[in-house]
Amino acid sequence: MSERIYYTDPTCIEFDATVVSSSTSDGRSVVVLDRTAFYPTSGGQPYDTGSLGDAEVTDVIDLDDGTIGHVVSAPIAHGTPVRGRVDWARRFDHMQQHTGQHILSAAFDRLHRARTVGFHLGAVLSTIDIDKVLGTETLAAAESEANRVVWENRPVSIRFATPEEAAAMTFRKEPARMGPLRVIEVEDFDLSACGGTHVARAGQVGVITLRSWEKFRGGMRLEFVCGSRVLREFRVLRDAVAGSLRYLSVAPLDLPSAIESAQGENKELRRTLRDLGERLAVHEASALVSGARQIGPARVVVDALDGWDQAGLKALAAAAASRPGVVAALLSAGEPALVVIARASDVNLDAAAVLEALVKKFGGKGGGKPELAQGGGLAGARADMTAALGQLIESLLRPAP
Ligand SMILES: [Zn+2]
Repeated sequence: MSERIYYTDPTCIEFDATVVSSSTSDGRSVVVLDRTAFYPTSGGQPYDTGSLGDAEVTDVIDLDDGTIGHVVSAPIAHGTPVRGRVDWARRFDHMQQHTGQHILSAAFDRLHRARTVGFHLGAVLSTIDIDKVLGTETLAAAESEANRVVWENRPVSIRFATPEEAAAMTFRKEPARMGPLRVIEVEDFDLSACGGTHVARAGQVGVITLRSWEKFRGGMRLEFVCGSRVLREFRVLRDAVAGSLRYLSVAPLDLPSAIESAQGENKELRRTLRDLGERLAVHEASALVSGARQIGPARVVVDALDGWDQAGLKALAAAAASRPGVVAALLSAGEPALVVIARASDVNLDAAAVLEALVKKFGGKGGGKPELAQGGGLAGARADMTAALGQLIESLLRPAP
C-alpha cells in the first residue's frame, strides 16, 4: 500500500518519498513510492501531473494491489529518494470541479429528489447524469441553491469512518463498499464517501454554472463548470457577444432576435436576387438568340460568358431554349469551365450526348437529360471548346421527328 498524502492533505503538493518499485509497462516507466501526493485517475476525477526529481509525471494509475503507479518520462531506480512536485493549477482546478459536483448533486437531490447516477470530470467540461427529466426553471433552482451553499462558504471536511460509524451515517449515495470509509462532508448539506481531492471551504469553488443539458438514458446529462473554468468560459462568451454586437448595434439581450431578423432579411434578399437573375436571364437570352447561327433546322447559340455562375448559366440557357428551334450551349469564362446545354422541345438533339462528348475531350464531369445537360471542371481554351461545341451540335442534330 502507498501512503496517500492527498487523503488527509489535498493542499500538499511537494513531498519527499522513496521509490519502492520500478518497472516498465507497455514501454512506459512506472514507479511506485512509499508515499505520494499524486492523485491517480479514479472516481470520475483525472490524475495529477508534475514531477518526481527530474522526471515528468505524465500519468498516475490506481493499481490493483492498493499502490499508486507514477508513469514517468525517465526510469528511476528502486531505493532512490525523490522529491515529488504536483502541478497545483491542475490539482486546484480538479478540486474546484469535484467539490462543485458534490454540492450540485446534493442540491438536485435535496430540492428535486433527482439522484446523480454518473459523474465525469473532463479537461474542459464536466458532466453529471441525473435520474429525472427536469424543466429549465427547476434546473435553475438547483443551480441557485448550489451557489448559495458556495457563497455561505461552508466548511468542507475530510473524515474517516469505521464500518460501525459509516452504518450510522446518512449518505447522499449509499457507498459501494462498507468501511473504513473516507467521507467528505459539506457542512449540513452533503455527506459522500469519496476518495477525491476537495477544497477546504465551499467558497473556494467560486461559482457553479450549468452550461447545457440534454435528455440521457431516461434522465438527463448536465454539463457544468466551476471556479476558474467559469471565468475562462465567461471571457470566451464575452468576446463572442462583443464581436457580434459590433456588427449588429443592439443590446446583448436583443442579440438572438437581431440575428433572427437579419437571417429573415437575408432570405428575402436572396429571393429577390433570384427573381432578378431570372428576369435578367430572359432579357439576356433575347440578345443571345438574335446572334444565333442557323445549323440545319436549328438556331444555335454557342458562347462563353463572363460573370455567370452555374445557376445563372442554366437560367440563361433555359430562357434561350424556351424559344422554338433554339439550341443554347453556354460556357463560363472562369477556370475550370462550367457548361450548360439546353434545347427547345421541338429540336431533335440529345444535350446529354453533346455534354458527354465534350467532357471526353476537355475533362470534367456532368450529366443531364436530352433537353438539358450541365457539367463543370472542363479544362482548355474557350475558343477550342466553343468550336468543339459547334461541331458536336452540328453532327448530333437530327431532323425534327
Ligand atoms: Zn466525489
